[in-house]
Amino acid sequence: MRSISVAIDGPAGAGKSTVARLVAQQLHLTYVDTGAMYRAVTLQALKRGIDVTDEGAVARLANQMDIALTPADGELDVFVDGQRITEEIRTPEVTTHVSAVAGNPEVRKILAQKQREMGEEGGVVMDGRDIGTHVLPAAELKVYLTASIEERAQRRYNELVQKGYQLDWEQLKEEIRYRDEQDRNRQHSPLKPADDAVHLDTTGLTIPEVVQAILDLSRT
Ligand code: C5P
Repeated sequence: MRSISVAIDGPAGAGKSTVARLVAQQLHLTYVDTGAMYRAVTLQALKRGIDVTDEGAVARLANQMDIALTPADGELDVFVDGQRITEEIRTPEVTTHVSAVAGNPEVRKILAQKQREMGEEGGVVMDGRDIGTHVLPAAELKVYLTASIEERAQRRYNELVQKGYQLDWEQLKEEIRYRDEQDRNRQHSPLKPADDAVHLDTTGLTIPEVVQAILDLSRT
């Protein structure tokens, strides 16, 4: 029997990854974090000294990379060519450069193809920016998660402080605004809700409340 596919899109810090992972667990579906894939390409480019704005070089790199997402202890481990890079892809340095990589049309084509293959059989919860509109347009359930910029910045802040980073609040808010703007204004598969997406504003909601709302939607 073919299982359903759930597409969860929205701006940075709206809680997509945490919520998508928990929804996948509850529904016994595979979780695919597509942001992790853009981050993995960014990290590898930085490691190899490739200029992230060099579209041809970054596309060649993305084409050669073997990216694997593996569930581990309720989290998702990220591997590139067999090497675990789960934590490394979340550093502020990668976050600063990821928009340039995500704006590269050839990289988008390569990663969207990999993502479609991962979602081919159904049975996935996939989160990103263009999943409902571009990667899995036939997904049975599409959710567009949003939250106020203050709340999104606060969530990112808490997450990063917990990991030991020292942050400037205003700078963090600016970084989120910048990434959203880049995502919304790029030419290829920009961030926008699919016409048939259910909009969910998570401002003031707890993670279990958002997860429950999506589980309810999946059963209707
Ligand atoms: O979700 P996360 O913040 O980890 O994603 C990192 C970056 O990857 C985003 O800022 C966005 O530019 C890009 N991205 C994308 N399309 C996706 C997923 C992520 O452009 N489907």
